[in-house]
Amino acid sequence: MDCIFCKIAAGEIPADILHTDEEVIAFRDINPQAPVHVVIIPGEHFTTLAELPEEKSVLVGHMVHVANKLAVSEGISESGYRVVINCGKQGGQVVQHLHMHLLGGRQLDGNLG
Ligand code: 5GP
Ligand code: ZN
Repeated sequence: MDCIFCKIAAGEIPADILHTDEEVIAFRDINPQAPVHVVIIPGEHFTTLAELPEEKSVLVGHMVHVANKLAVSEGISESGYRVVINCGKQGGQVVQHLHMHLLGGRQLDGNLG
């Protein structure tokens, strides 16, 4: 499958990987929008959040758990951070593999879009 995040998960494209476990991989965003900008993806390919089956919903909970852990290791747990999942065209999703953004390290705009 021609999916950039599947290729990162498979180690076929290099990335600055911060976390990996049986379910998810987390790596620094190539075009960071904040001093800390991490992308958290499931190893399994789901095109969008909308396509995640109900029985796999726990996966998003695990992604949030990993985001919280990374917020601690990146030193933004106290100052605050944002987790975002863009879904579909009007949701601003560009890469067609479900992913969560972890953003922090500066005052983020209160305007969500
Ligand atoms: P989206 O807009 O789909 O929610 O976010 C996709 C994110 O993936 C963007 O922030 C973009 O900078 C990041 N990204 C796209 N291609 C690559 C890549 O090859 N490596 C890394 N590390 N990040 C990428
Ligand atoms: Zn994929």
